[in-house]
Amino acid sequence: MPSLDLHTDVVTLTRALVDVESVSGNERTLADAVEAALSGLPHLQTGRFGNTVVARTSLSRAERVVVAGHLDTVPEAGNLPSRLVDDRIYGLGACDMKGGVAVALRLAATITEPVRDVTYVFYDCEEIEAEKNGLGRLARTRPEELTADFAVLMEPSSAQVEGGCQGTLRAEIVLPGKRAHSARAWMGANAIHAAAPVLTRLAEYKPRQVPVDGLVYREGLNAVGITGGVAGNVIPDECRVTVNYRFAPDRSEAEAFAHVQETFAGYVVELRDSAPAAAPGLDRPSAAAFVEALGVQPHPKFGWTDVARFAELGVPAVNYGPGESALAHTRDEYVEVAELHSCEDRMGAWLRG
Ligand SMILES: [Zn+2]
Repeated sequence: MPSLDLHTDVVTLTRALVDVESVSGNERTLADAVEAALSGLPHLQTGRFGNTVVARTSLSRAERVVVAGHLDTVPEAGNLPSRLVDDRIYGLGACDMKGGVAVALRLAATITEPVRDVTYVFYDCEEIEAEKNGLGRLARTRPEELTADFAVLMEPSSAQVEGGCQGTLRAEIVLPGKRAHSARAWMGANAIHAAAPVLTRLAEYKPRQVPVDGLVYREGLNAVGITGGVAGNVIPDECRVTVNYRFAPDRSEAEAFAHVQETFAGYVVELRDSAPAAAPGLDRPSAAAFVEALGVQPHPKFGWTDVARFAELGVPAVNYGPGESALAHTRDEYVEVAELHSCEDRMGAWLRG
């Protein structure tokens, strides 16, 4: 088993993490190494749940925060082992998100008496089907492990604070018609033509911009698919328009669906799937202290991330980590050495108080 030295510098540690291949489903070796390194630290209690490792301080502080990162990566693309070129670390997962994991491991090892209790979570299977997600599994089976006042997910965000996340919902607007031979179209009713007013409604829709905890979330309601048609000589009897609603954290999934139904009042609207939004929780003391220690202006997160899993448990969460999200999953992904150091310094200042 490769051994990880958590007392080395964050650059060496990031490279060591990259060099232990951990494509989703193959995290055991890395999880073993992380568990072994953390178990040796007397100020932490370390637990293992599948290939997810949890380490926590127990100092009876007034607040508890979670610092979390996933251990897995997308498949290799000829980008192993790591390389250090021009103050950038290149290699599989360098950006998404072994740089962030290295920062979290350094904090876990070096800050023995944080001013707020910390639960560090290193989980598996983030880059694949949602049912396998290690954080989701922990939330379902051992929610008490994730109890906290605030959580930081160390996904690459260019060291910017991205608060909460939008929810997402897909629904189908079902348009009925009456089948007929297209040579006798007057005997039928064309379901595809019936989609015209639905598309007009979408084109004229004015999405909301919603302030939540001081961040403005821009919503969107868009057609993302349309199906219909039977054959080249048949008036179609059904057309379906699939819409995707990205909604702000002031709405629950049920409220979001009610809004879509209301927008298409008079039509049959079928819900396909949805995932909740997450509030940034920047009004909490630990979150406010976090933003202050970092000295950066928080932004809303556009997109869905694992922060929503914390929101479902009632734990507000933000994304904050080294690396540019646009580089995630690319062959040439890298993380800047300077960003690794600044993330470690700033998170360290927050935890040291
Ligand atoms: Zn990631």
